[in-house]
Amino acid sequence: MNNNNSNRLIVVTNRGPYNITEVKDKWKFEKTIGGLTTALLPVLKQTAGLWIANGEPPGFYPHSSGHFDFDLRYIGLTPEEILGYYFGFSNDALWPLCHYFLGRVNFNREQWEIYEKVNQKFAEVTLEEAKPGDMIWIHDYHLARVPLYIRAMQSLAQIALFWHIPFPSPEIYRVLPWRKEILQSLLACNVIGFHIPEYATNFIESTIELLDATIEEDRVCYNGHTTKVIARPIGIDYATVDKEARSRRTENHIRQLLDTLRGQALIVGVERMDYTKGVLERLRGMERLLELHPEWHGKVTLFQIVTPSRETLEAYRAKKREVDEIVGRVNGRFSTDVWTPIRYLYRSFSPSQLIVYYRAADIALVTPLRDGLNLVAKEYVASRIHQDGTLILSEFAGVRFQLPEALMVNPFSVDDIANVLQQALTMPKEEQRRRMQDMQARIKLQDIKWWAQEFLEQMTPLRLPA
Ligand code: UDP
Repeated sequence: MNNNNSNRLIVVTNRGPYNITEVKDKWKFEKTIGGLTTALLPVLKQTAGLWIANGEPPGFYPHSSGHFDFDLRYIGLTPEEILGYYFGFSNDALWPLCHYFLGRVNFNREQWEIYEKVNQKFAEVTLEEAKPGDMIWIHDYHLARVPLYIRAMQSLAQIALFWHIPFPSPEIYRVLPWRKEILQSLLACNVIGFHIPEYATNFIESTIELLDATIEEDRVCYNGHTTKVIARPIGIDYATVDKEARSRRTENHIRQLLDTLRGQALIVGVERMDYTKGVLERLRGMERLLELHPEWHGKVTLFQIVTPSRETLEAYRAKKREVDEIVGRVNGRFSTDVWTPIRYLYRSFSPSQLIVYYRAADIALVTPLRDGLNLVAKEYVASRIHQDGTLILSEFAGVRFQLPEALMVNPFSVDDIANVLQQALTMPKEEQRRRMQDMQARIKLQDIKWWAQEFLEQMTPLRLPA
């Protein structure tokens, strides 16, 4: 229970910021990998609030334990709950639906009911901790029903939710059997945020079509309550990436890496193993480049980093098998005694390890088939301390609006990927610099602190310390 008198920020997410294990009677805290942790850790550190998430072992970890600058409360879910709520409704229904993969959507009533039960549990734990005046900031599609449960128990609660994935057009969204229930809950928030105006518009139009909601400027009015809808793309911790990119340690690792390449151009791709990320199409694009441009044989290498993800789901295991196969095919076809065109690394990397690849790479190939935003693109731009290098970016990544100077590509077209790669490989340094400077300036300005402040300002006078 919170005894602090001042209003706090309470962040509620599916996954917590640390994996906690007990080693020889002592807690060991290991940072979890992923966009949300990377984005929210600096915000929570600055506001010294409370983070509520699913995690093991369940319990309350106070900031006074000295491991972090905020309080942490873990809710322990059972394996059945995790299967139904996380792998089931969240990632086998909402995730493919919101990414326009209708063929992969699996609607299952039992999973929906577990999702409901788990969302209710999150709401109850949040209200055990919250005091009047605290700001409750819920994150993402896993917890879409939490706002309604909180509102039902605490009518004056200050509730905000940020939706981190795309919100699809009403034509796609209305396929969902529980389309009204999700919208009604989201409209129990005081503020709901999306990365880009397109998602906000899709959400607003869905509420009009499906709930007969009315609109007043940037607010949706429904059932006697108004919800402000905003679009702000999440930022990165630019200063930290920049500092790491300039460190001696990074410099040394880059030298070791480049020694193995002997002057070849380096292309990098980094993502979770997920069918939305377009890894397969990208590898085929690399294959097409090598078919069309034999002059690059022995002169270019793609480092493709893929992080294991959601392996419980067959769709994810199947995607890995396909990726393994195509890497084998392309390398089998083109490798020589001294050159392998694709170096495929299937494991997790720390943020500082990734910065080594970003800094060393002449080109970042970021080609998701659909992506709410994409932080890897921003991290690549922030790491380019010499303001060179080329970002190739999917037309279907939300971040395209912030990075229009990138080379845009249709990630579904293998030929387009090959052609844009050729353009990037031959781009003059001066043009690289011109594009990179503008992108860097924007990403630096609209960093993680900007995003959090922009969002929090909509709700309360809560301000981040300078
Ligand atoms: N990431 C990481 N280690 C890895 C792979 C990815 O730390 O091995 C981080 C990456 O730096 C980025 C985040 O995970 O901050 C991925 O965010 P993005 O928006 O690109 O995709 P998401 O996985 O959230 O769909």
